[in-house]
Amino acid sequence: MNLVDVHCHLNHALFKDDIDSVIQRAKDAGVKSIIVSGTNTESNKQVLELVKHDPILNISLGIHPIDALGLSEGETGIPKQLKPINIEEEFKFIEKNKSKILAIGEVGMDFHWDKTHHAEQKEIFRKVCTFAVRIKKPIIVHAWEAEEECLDILEAEINGKVPVILHCFGGRKALITRGKELGYYFTVPPSILKSSNFQTLVKKVNLHQLLTETDAPWQSPLKDTKNEPSFVAKTIQKIAEIKGLSVQETAEKIWENYTDVFLSHLNKHL
Ligand SMILES: [Zn+2]
Repeated sequence: MNLVDVHCHLNHALFKDDIDSVIQRAKDAGVKSIIVSGTNTESNKQVLELVKHDPILNISLGIHPIDALGLSEGETGIPKQLKPINIEEEFKFIEKNKSKILAIGEVGMDFHWDKTHHAEQKEIFRKVCTFAVRIKKPIIVHAWEAEEECLDILEAEINGKVPVILHCFGGRKALITRGKELGYYFTVPPSILKSSNFQTLVKKVNLHQLLTETDAPWQSPLKDTKNEPSFVAKTIQKIAEIKGLSVQETAEKIWENYTDVFLSHLNKHL
């Protein structure tokens, strides 16, 4: 069985001492690819270094909306960004490494943590979308409490030119439908085990538009245990149960979605 985690943060300090066993557990569970996402200038560099650790690790480089503004002083475990990111410089850095990366991410907008710079967030996100189209990479989008605004910008700027992956999408049902009709992919985290929102999302979205992720170490489905890539096996089981399919069929289809989005696309356009 081939499983995939399309978004996590294994560069987090919580993995400093057990990265090898975390990767081994993922392999034992059937995980064949893990995309580690950068969030700012320093963490993009960290991710590029980290993946040298094991060929199962793949890369997406990004500019997290809160980091872009230089407002991540509350961050623990991954590098903080205490001054605004020079967006054009960061694009240059990402472009220089484009042959090594599968996607642009984590990018997007976050109106939950930042209540005051929404116009600026929109302006940055538009630039990020234009950049993703220019270098022909799928885009992994964080849209916390900015789901509708993200869809507006994605619809205008991406317009089918590169795949869009909505990471942990918390939008209401009408917005799920809109994302689905736009042909976007939705990632499902292991917290689906207890989250009725993700269960609803899986009911509404066809299997060919679903992917699995963990956002590890965050969003663990288990109390007092950090999240890790091996837990995608739990997500696959739950998706299979909701869709009335076997675990095998579900895993195969999601792996196929992964190769369509991140690998075929790469071959098609580069
Ligand atoms: Zn994340």
